[in-house]
Amino acid sequence: MIDTHAHIDFKDYNKNREEVIKRAKSKINAIINSGASLGGNRRTLELAEKHKSFIYPSLGFHPVNSSRAEFKVVEEVMDLIEENIEKTVAIGETGMDYHHVKELEGRKKQEKVFKLFIDLAREYELPLIIHARDCEEKAFKLVKKFTSIPEIVFHCYSGSLETAKKIVEENYYLSFSTMLTFSSHHQRLIKEIPLEYILTETDSPYLSPYKGQKNEPLFVEEVITKIAEIKQSNFFEVDQITEKNARQVFNI
Ligand SMILES: [Zn+2]
Repeated sequence: MIDTHAHIDFKDYNKNREEVIKRAKSKINAIINSGASLGGNRRTLELAEKHKSFIYPSLGFHPVNSSRAEFKVVEEVMDLIEENIEKTVAIGETGMDYHHVKELEGRKKQEKVFKLFIDLAREYELPLIIHARDCEEKAFKLVKKFTSIPEIVFHCYSGSLETAKKIVEENYYLSFSTMLTFSSHHQRLIKEIPLEYILTETDSPYLSPYKGQKNEPLFVEEVITKIAEIKQSNFFEVDQITEKNARQVFNI
């Protein structure tokens, strides 16, 4: 099992970070920690250094953060990524979030930053992790032009089935989170998407499958269980294929 998207660097884990990582290590094989801000990227690199061959860094800028950021900060994030390009397994998360960012100015800024990160992924031939919310089709069209990006992942995909099918046709990946355990929309999506294009994630600390309990990478197990149930497959097969997908995408 691999949790391909988590934020273990968030302050939500300041009191029990090492315990959460230890629990994850007992059952799962790797975590891709997603840097969402300048400080987040730094902390992600530290965590990856401390837990080598278990936590892998993906460096980016969350679209809600980028919509509000001064350009100077965007540049600082990009510099940090370039300085650590050998260590990073992917560029992202990056993208656009129309659910949280409604005003035109913020949306324009997100798009501009997103394009800069697309360029980074192209230049360094690294996978791109996209956060797109309520604008999945637009994000898809933006990246579709660039064939030199080795792998593209739509993290926590929540868009339409129609767009999902187009994404898969391009051989891009859709990552399903623990939200799958309680969202009927995601459950309908997973039915139609071949296992070969599916990654699993928790997006910890968000999207907990257990009410009143913080999410953590260990719970990626619940995603696999649910996929197996919906696809009338078995846990072992889903685990094997999704882990193989993740290892191939992130080259780990
Ligand atoms: Zn995230």
